[in-house]
Amino acid sequence: MIQIGQEEYKTIIKHAKEGLPNEACGLLGGIVVSGVTYVKKIYCLTNTDASREHFSMDPKEQFAAIKDIRSNNLQLIGNFHSHPETPARPSDEDKRLAYDSTLLYGIVSLMAEDSPVFKVFHINEAKEVSEEEVVII
Ligand SMILES: [Zn+2]
Repeated sequence: MIQIGQEEYKTIIKHAKEGLPNEACGLLGGIVVSGVTYVKKIYCLTNTDASREHFSMDPKEQFAAIKDIRSNNLQLIGNFHSHPETPARPSDEDKRLAYDSTLLYGIVSLMAEDSPVFKVFHINEAKEVSEEEVVII
């Protein structure tokens, strides 16, 4: 199970909307306590691809985020990106690029811009996708 605060959730949705018409992306800092992952800090990064169908995180921003995560005694628990025009599930490319089965892969769908859908997945080495339960607190 993944717990995320209202504020953090809003930050993800806001970043996704501000990135339109392109995909937006970012990193998630948090902690894991007795099997529950707590998302504590959202890092909104620049999509250097500036594309509606792809994203690449700005390497400098990525480095700064990792540094901040460490200095706050958090862990890099995953990343997120938006799908401006498609549902909140990993695309074939998302699965191909999922290099770490321990990370969470969050996807925001803005297919219906007024009712964004945020889902979080694990993707294993066999590229099998499992959705994780997200609780907004
Ligand atoms: Zn995607």
